Amino acid sequence: MDLKNNLELTYLFISHDLSVVQCVSDHVLVMYLGKVVELGCVDDVYHRPRHPYTQAPLASRPSNPDEKIERPPLVGDPPNPINPPSGCRFRTRCAYSESVCERVEPLLTAQDTTASHCAACHMVIPGSGHSRAAGVRPLV
Ligand code: SF4
Repeated sequence: MDLKNNLELTYLFISHDLSVVQCVSDHVLVMYLGKVVELGCVDDVYHRPRHPYTQAPLASRPSNPDEKIERPPLVGDPPNPINPPSGCRFRTRCAYSESVCERVEPLLTAQDTTASHCAACHMVIPGSGHSRAAGVRPLV
């Protein structure tokens, strides 16, 4: 952090440790099976996660007891990346998956007016945080 601040350096930091990423990063890009599922500034991604894959590990991390992100836990194993699922690659592990998720790959969509926070999920309506699917809990 000192080097970054004093020398105005930019780092590309890759990790599975969410707490370290939050500590050292200004912006975060979340990937699943080689696809970007969410990106944004640290505050948006950690406090207002929009994609189910981002929400699951944030909800379960032990160092985050004060934040009330209650989402289904991440279950199952990642599919074979050589033969990923059709449509949304996360659909085989997603509690919100619908038929469209099997057919159509979701595109990264701006979640705010500045387009600084983006997520790739059919069930998130940009800006509202509500799910399109009836009977499915809002994602945010
Ligand atoms: S597009 Fe569908 S399967 Fe993919 S994360 Fe969103 S709800 Fe889940």
